Amino acid sequence: MHPLDSPGLWAETAPPAPPTTTLARDIEADIAIVGAGYTGLSAALEAAGAGARVVVLEAAEIGAGGSGRNVGLVNAGLWLMPEVMERRLARHGPDNPLPDLLGQAPAAVWALINQHGIECEARPVGTLHCAPGRAGLDALGERALQWRARGVVLTMLDAATTQARTGSARFCGALFDPRAGTVQPLAYARGLARAALGAGAQIYTHSPVSAAQLTDGDWRLTTPGGTLRAKRVIWATNAYAQGPADEPAKALAVLPYFNLATNPLPEALRAGILPGGEGAWDSAKILTSFRLDAAGRFIIGSVGALGGVDRAAHTAWAQRQMIRLYPQLKGQVFTQQWFGRIGTTPDALPRLWQPGPGAFGVLGYNGRGIAPGTVLGQQLARAAVGQEAALPDLQPARPDPLRHARNLFIRTGAALWHIADQRR
Ligand SMILES: Cc1cc2nc3c(=O)[nH]c(=O)nc-3n(C[C@H](O)[C@H](O)[C@H](O)COP(=O)(O)OP(=O)(O)OC[C@H]3O[C@@H](n4cnc5c(N)ncnc54)[C@H](O)[C@@H]3O)c2cc1C
Repeated sequence: MHPLDSPGLWAETAPPAPPTTTLARDIEADIAIVGAGYTGLSAALEAAGAGARVVVLEAAEIGAGGSGRNVGLVNAGLWLMPEVMERRLARHGPDNPLPDLLGQAPAAVWALINQHGIECEARPVGTLHCAPGRAGLDALGERALQWRARGVVLTMLDAATTQARTGSARFCGALFDPRAGTVQPLAYARGLARAALGAGAQIYTHSPVSAAQLTDGDWRLTTPGGTLRAKRVIWATNAYAQGPADEPAKALAVLPYFNLATNPLPEALRAGILPGGEGAWDSAKILTSFRLDAAGRFIIGSVGALGGVDRAAHTAWAQRQMIRLYPQLKGQVFTQQWFGRIGTTPDALPRLWQPGPGAFGVLGYNGRGIAPGTVLGQQLARAAVGQEAALPDLQPARPDPLRHARNLFIRTGAALWHIADQRR
């Protein structure tokens, strides 16, 4: 297993994955999709729904990448303030469809879940971005103003309302986004896979693509058990890249992110925590995310990997942070822990990967990939089947020469922050 990875709670509580097999012969399709996360599966569903012959090749299992191990916050937009995102996108050309696409992305997620009856603990009840101090509150106020200027009304909550909504006295305010909500991440990925299969797509797991060759307008993807020939290829491999997908992943630095979960809390304790069911995170430099799952487990997350010497620092910090947020949870222990890789770019915008004619992909959602992966997968599929698509102009995925330094900086910085924060 990669040192920045571990499986987690979601695999225990998600409905089983639909049955799939490994590619064991040479086959053809109209559209090949590499990677069975949100981007690849949503693309498969859209393209198969449009009548294309679609084959997904996945190196491991459905949702084995970020899609099976994230926090489950289905958010609109990116981490960037809307204005900053637009300014950065403007460098690549006018009228970029990305801001609109991402603003409406949670609605697209809820629509797919409803349309396909996906069982994934979906709670479209909004999210709370909480401010521990004045600086964070000012930034959230600015974010609310910028969204309002774009016709989206988010609600700034005062300290008392934030306390009522989170059940925690740690915050001086919060920004409530009613478009957003939470899902059980792996269940959502498996549900997308089931829907894609239902629409006629084929999914082969444990079928890593080790080579991609273009000959006479056809792509030939090689896996250990067979090859797939297709005119179009959608690369949906993001931060979990293997084989030829390593090349676009060089545009990304890895931000490790961990989660720890308690057992289901007794009803009396659960009732006082996020009673409206929102997912939440704070505006601290090294953020804390927190939420309950459907069974009432308390899940807390932050930046860091649990695979090395820094593990003790992160878990000790999480124990203390849980009690700082909710003193009534003293005595609760974490029974689940997992972590994963978030692909980040220096300007916090995704990258476009176009290795040759008919082949493309998007990667680098910078920690916000549930809704963006879903809608960008749909748009990649529309482009692949020749329909009108709102594919954004993005920077090409070129290797970032500073990525190793950024990896080290992020990982070490998070560990030091959590050690220092424990002592406060
Ligand atoms: C711990 C954590 C917390 C996060 N929290 C949130 C959150 O709360 N909200 C949010 O919106 N986002 C969150 N994210 C980000 C989000 O999970 C990702 O952006 C999203 O899952 C990316 O989806 P994807 O389909 O593009 O890639 P992935 O889900 O990573 O899928 C890529 C797939 O490609 C496969 N693959 C790679 N190379 C090959 C190959 N050569 N052949 C075949 N298959 C290959 C991999 O095995 C993998 O399954 C979080 C991420 C992590 C890790």
